[in-house]
Amino acid sequence: MSADPDTLDPPVGPHDDEPHGEGLNNRLNWLRAGVLGANDGIVSTAGLVMGVAGATSDRTTILVAGIAGLVAGALSMAAGEYVSVSTQSDSERALLDKERRELVDEPAEELAELAGLYVAKGLSEDLAREVAEALTAHDALGAHAEAELGIDPDDLTNPWTAAWASMVSFTVGALLPLLTIVLTPPGGRVVVTVVAVLVALALTGWASARLGFGAPRKAVLRNVAGGLLAMAVTYGIGTVVGSAV
Ligand SMILES: [Zn+2]
Repeated sequence: MSADPDTLDPPVGPHDDEPHGEGLNNRLNWLRAGVLGANDGIVSTAGLVMGVAGATSDRTTILVAGIAGLVAGALSMAAGEYVSVSTQSDSERALLDKERRELVDEPAEELAELAGLYVAKGLSEDLAREVAEALTAHDALGAHAEAELGIDPDDLTNPWTAAWASMVSFTVGALLPLLTIVLTPPGGRVVVTVVAVLVALALTGWASARLGFGAPRKAVLRNVAGGLLAMAVTYGIGTVVGSAV
């Protein structure tokens, strides 16, 4: 079994403030997924409750529609995430099984293959061979998984965790427009909700740009514009349908 890469770093060193290993990458991926889930919850629920608010000023109707949308959206996000992560970890597990069999059936070829990968990365033949032998002795499967497949066998994503995380983040996002629109008096309902949603979308746009190392200003503008468009369209449709029925 291989140790957590983070624990192999010296406890004190000149580069302790730099990102290290898969652990950080993984945490960033989770944060990014959380921000995107919250963003989905905000946009879809804001669109939904604004559409209903365009048709009626009855608070109970807006609340029921919003709750139904929140639950449906959260469950659909969770199911989608579960399916996609399961599919990915199934294929990762199949690749690891194949690698494990190859290591048993043809260890010499596998050692040469691993050394070849390090030569391709720039090591000399001798050094590559030495590195490959040392890594094979330490954790053959881990070394092949990392070099050939880019997988950490000890760190496959759990589909249930992923499903739960996207359900929670969607719900947190969805609660913002839902609570804003039902707690604000009818007169200011639409305006206050639009403002609250746009502020929240500016924050999630900024956060996702920071986590993805993109340009924050563009991400904020795109995100705010997308949310504004969604609310304008559903509010317009709600108004038309509400006055026609
Ligand atoms: Zn291999």
